Amino acid sequence: MKKISLFLLFISFALLQACAPGGKNAINVFSLQDDITLGKQLRDEIASKPKEYPLLSRQQYPKAYEHLQRITNNILNSGALEHRNDFEWTLHIIQDDKTLNAFVSPGGYIYVYTGLIKYLETEDELAGVMGHEIAHADRRHSTANMTKTHGIETVLGMLLGKNPGMLGQVLGGMTGKIGGLKFSRATESDADEQSVVYLAKTQYRCDGTAGFFEKMMAQSSQQPPQWLSTHPSHENRVNDIKAKAQAIGCSTKPSNNQSLYQDLKNSLPR
Ligand SMILES: [Zn+2]
Repeated sequence: MKKISLFLLFISFALLQACAPGGKNAINVFSLQDDITLGKQLRDEIASKPKEYPLLSRQQYPKAYEHLQRITNNILNSGALEHRNDFEWTLHIIQDDKTLNAFVSPGGYIYVYTGLIKYLETEDELAGVMGHEIAHADRRHSTANMTKTHGIETVLGMLLGKNPGMLGQVLGGMTGKIGGLKFSRATESDADEQSVVYLAKTQYRCDGTAGFFEKMMAQSSQQPPQWLSTHPSHENRVNDIKAKAQAIGCSTKPSNNQSLYQDLKNSLPR
């Protein structure tokens, strides 16, 4: 018992030291295995709802998956991830041309809508969005946020089995509405900046994520995707991404994969 109290004290102290709310220094009392378990629950739930999440068939559209995998691998193998080998990092394409969105569940299960791929114009832009999603999983934002929301002591209590029912409730709440995938402002900014760090070690322009927001800004009549609507303004995000690129001095020169990106678009159902 005493050991646990000391541990809590230590954790509370460590919390005071944490400076990046959604970042690497955020306190997370969950294990990597918890992220994976949670991610698999979400993945299974998504697979069980084909009407809501019509997954593009891998057998029918292998080329689309090959392209997306190629782009994603460039980021995964950049050497900049913390959990490259801890998570499975699987890709799924959702066949819905009207939705400009992508999301990721803990443990690296990535979902990209055909609408987003068709909307974007360059691989740099898509790589930017992929980098952003990869960052959410790699930085373990969901479980870090859960730790923060429910409090260290509550979550530790749940994990230590003092109130195991509660853990089920918390996790159930997350999977119930894929709600755990909505992130705070600070977390979004962290994922934006981290995408620059990842892309800096690839062939892509490191501020590729900004391209997406710029495109949205240029077409303000476009409905912002759900994952953006509650977040920092596009303009702020673009500025922050560019400032990060400048701070680390990475290349913002566009990569030259235009025909490959067109090939990816052509490999999707019309
Ligand atoms: Zn995000």
